[in-house]
Amino acid sequence: MGKVLIIGAGGVGTVVVHKVAQNPDVFTEIMLASRTKSKCDVIASDVQKRYGVQVKTAQVDADIVPELVTLLNDYKPELLINVALPYQDLTIMDACLEAGVNYMDTANYEPKDKAHFEYSWQWAYKEKFEKAGLTAILGCGFDPGVTSIYTAYAAKHYFDEIHYLDIVDCNAGDHGKAFATNFNPEINIREVSQRGKYWENGEWVETEPHEIHKPLNYPEIGPKESYVIYHEELESLVKNFPTIKRARFWMTFGQEYLTHLHVIQNIGMARIDEVEYNGQKIVPIQFLKAVLPNPGDLGENYTGWTSIGCRIKGIKAGKEVTYYVYNNCSHEAAFKETGTQGVSYTTGVPAMIGAMMFMKGIWKKAGVYNVEEFNPDPFMEQLNIHGLPWVEQHNIDLEL
Ligand code: NDP
Repeated sequence: MGKVLIIGAGGVGTVVVHKVAQNPDVFTEIMLASRTKSKCDVIASDVQKRYGVQVKTAQVDADIVPELVTLLNDYKPELLINVALPYQDLTIMDACLEAGVNYMDTANYEPKDKAHFEYSWQWAYKEKFEKAGLTAILGCGFDPGVTSIYTAYAAKHYFDEIHYLDIVDCNAGDHGKAFATNFNPEINIREVSQRGKYWENGEWVETEPHEIHKPLNYPEIGPKESYVIYHEELESLVKNFPTIKRARFWMTFGQEYLTHLHVIQNIGMARIDEVEYNGQKIVPIQFLKAVLPNPGDLGENYTGWTSIGCRIKGIKAGKEVTYYVYNNCSHEAAFKETGTQGVSYTTGVPAMIGAMMFMKGIWKKAGVYNVEEFNPDPFMEQLNIHGLPWVEQHNIDLEL
């Protein structure tokens, strides 16, 4: 059905390439491009061995618009899947507009010099994409992504009004390392060390980092201490579902992880500004990334599960109802299938399904959209087929 270009050859990019290669009826030609071409070649050769599918590879610096435009004009893909870093979102969107290519990503734009993310920068491209007749799909990983689609599905089928939304994200896996992050360390540490924030009664409420926490029970896992942190899908969900009175995002952290995080911050290794070292300028968090385990290599000894879902309370036909929808994903099964751990897997599979929705013409409209603005039903159907089956529970105690 179409040609796809994937940018970014990290853990998530690896899963996306495996998954698009598993669906040759939809993705007829595949190219993987990234800053370091040798990483693309390793992935391409593994995919060739496993599925007999050819993946072209290329080198590109996605910070540089003209480089991207040349690549896009040479290869002419229908859709570009951006699984590089959030820093590249805007340059890639600019290049897509210039070359007439549709766009999709899994994380919203973040400037390199400020640990701050929000959708405004990308939403500002809406008119440009509309005028160009191109589609941009934002946030199509698991969270954001599947959690947003779970919410849209709940609103469509089970609620007249959603009042309370709690997104619960548990990683109960064990990778055997004292400290490691499950995706890009720089992005991950910036995300989890910021101040907490949630939506209540029409405004954002700020908290100290990790100030609100409680144990929540996760299916097949049991109780895990869960912390309110700010997460990007809250911004678009409260806009697209205005009946929401309160929206929060909870993530589990082990005590060991938090202790390491506090030490890293206290000794200045989470700093994102340049410091002078031996006559050279270095950014401490980038140096830290170089010495931490590579998230892409954690898979081999990773055991246990992730469990991510939405706990929702609202009304249907005048009655209060509750609903919990979630997926549990095994790190071991993810590694067996794609050579990566569960966090990369749960991000890469939805990215492939979003691309499939676009290629089939189901999610195709000119402009810039968050995933919950499309029909959730065909996407939910594909989750069950491609490795992320979901479970529903109705009218239970949500613990929240
Ligand atoms: P990695 O750090 O493992 O991979 C990032 C890749 O992007 C690397 O191959 C890197 O190249 C490449 N890259 C970085 N800068 C450039 C550039 N300027 N030009 C071209 N390529 C570049 O990250 P992950 O795979 O863990 O994460 C990928 C994305 O997925 C991130 O944006 C992350 O925020 C998002 N994500 C989303 C989630 C969700 O559920 N929505 C969950 C987890 C992650 P090199 O190898 O040379 O460094």
